[in-house]
Amino acid sequence: MNIILLGPPGSGKGTQGALLSQRTGLPRVSTGDLLRSAVQRDTPLGREAKQYMDQGLLVPDAVILGLIEEVLALPEAANGIIMDGFPRTVAQAEAVDRLLAERQTAVDRVLSIDVPEEELVRRMTGRARVEGRVDDTPETIRQRLVVYEEQTAPLVAYYNERGLLTGVSGMGRIEEIAERVEEVVGR
Ligand code: ADP
Repeated sequence: MNIILLGPPGSGKGTQGALLSQRTGLPRVSTGDLLRSAVQRDTPLGREAKQYMDQGLLVPDAVILGLIEEVLALPEAANGIIMDGFPRTVAQAEAVDRLLAERQTAVDRVLSIDVPEEELVRRMTGRARVEGRVDDTPETIRQRLVVYEEQTAPLVAYYNERGLLTGVSGMGRIEEIAERVEEVVGR
């Protein structure tokens, strides 16, 4: 089963993706985590990505499409994966469709985790204090929300038109949200 977690920054995709991975046994892959790891290791990909991430901008598709191709070719992804933080643009969504089709598989379900904007800002500001993520400054948080609306929110329509989208409220206790997610995924 191939599942996409869609939602603005701060919506809890990472938390829910990890829980869903535990419960289904499907691997969760986060392009954000892969990019942060590349930045830490100071690889060429990391050096390229950092300048965008620090500003709250998307890393260009030209860079990300190769990463997505690598992820979907992983042997552990052969039985399906939980995609967290990608696709994030229509071009990335088209690439995911094409790469999965090449493997005779497809996206099975897209969960959009919905959280009001004031709550997103509140969560990310709190996370900045706890985790010290460099892209959780007030200015970058605002920028990431704008980028989400402009470049990623169109994917809601993209997947809705294909009958794949289910909205899930991301408000409430983590465990409650996890139950909603599980109900949609059907396990
Ligand atoms: P969040 O969902 O809170 O923004 P992520 O860890 O998913 O956190 O992403 C952090 C940053 O990494 C993004 O702001 C962006 O710069 C970069 N990034 C992650 N995934 C992608 C992607 N699929 N395409 C482009 N940029 C990405």
